[in-house]
Amino acid sequence: MNGFKHSHSLGQNFLTDKNLLSAIVADAGVTASDTVVEVGAGQGALTRPLAETGARVIAFEIDTRLEEYLRPLEEKYPNLTVIFGDFMKSAPELISGRFKAVANLPYYITTPVLFRFLDDERCDSVTVMVQKEVAERIVASPGGKDYGVLSVSCNLAGKPKITRIVGRQMFTPPPNVDSAVVHIDVENPARSEKVSAVVKSAFAMRRKTLYNCLSSAGYDKAKITSALATLGLDPSVRGERLTPEQFVKLAEMITN
Ligand code: SAM
Repeated sequence: MNGFKHSHSLGQNFLTDKNLLSAIVADAGVTASDTVVEVGAGQGALTRPLAETGARVIAFEIDTRLEEYLRPLEEKYPNLTVIFGDFMKSAPELISGRFKAVANLPYYITTPVLFRFLDDERCDSVTVMVQKEVAERIVASPGGKDYGVLSVSCNLAGKPKITRIVGRQMFTPPPNVDSAVVHIDVENPARSEKVSAVVKSAFAMRRKTLYNCLSSAGYDKAKITSALATLGLDPSVRGERLTPEQFVKLAEMITN
C-alpha cells in the first residue's frame, strides 16, 4: 500500500473497504458527544471515519513510520489526537473521561489490550476486530472447548456479541486467518482482581478438576470443598462447567 512495508510482528494488516469501516463505526454506536480510543491507527483507515463522526478521537500508534499518514489527518480533524507509542505502556491519564474503545487490534496483543479496557472503569463499550477464533472464545458459553478466561471475563463485563465476520481478503496484506468484530457494552466496569485470579487458576490446567486447579494455586482446600457444595457443584467438576456468575460466588467464598 503506497510502497509502505508492513510489519508482520506489529500486526500491520490494514483495512481499506470504506463500507466495512463505516459498518465498524456503526457497530460501535459512536456519536459526536463521545470520546473514542483507538489502538493501532495504522494509516488511519478507521481513524478517519471515527473522526468524521465529530467524536473526540484519541488514536495510539506504535510505529513512527506512520506519522506521514497520521499527522496530516490530525491537521484535518481538530477533534483527533494521535499518540505515538506503545498503548500498553501509555499512562491512563492520556485519556480523560469516559470513552468507547474502537479498534482493528494488532493480533499479538489482543488479550492484554482487551483486558486493559475491561479493567478501566471509564470504558463504556469495546468494539474490536480480532481473530475469528478469539471472537468465538469471547462469546463462548460454559461447557465447550472455547470457553475459558476470555469468555468469563468478557461475559462478566457485559454481553459480548459478534457483529460481523470479516474475511482475511479484506486486509492488506491478508493474514492467515479470518477475523470478526466483537462488541461489548460494558455493564459491570472494572474486573475484580480476586475473581480474575480465581478464573485464571481454574483454567490453568484444563484437564484437571476445578478443586485440583484451585488447591494447586494455593486456595484453602476446606473452603474450596465447602464452596463447591454450597454452589451445588460436583466435587469433581471442571472449571469449564461454571457460569461467570458462579465464578463470582466461588471467588467470594474462597478468598474471604
Ligand atoms: N487501524 C488500522 C486499520 O484498520 O487499517 C491498522 C490496524 S493494524 C491491524 C494494527 C496497528 O496497530 C498497526 O498499525 C500497528 O503498528 C499498531 N500497533 C501494534 N502494536 C501496538 C501497540 N503496542 N500500541 C499501539 N499501536 C500498536
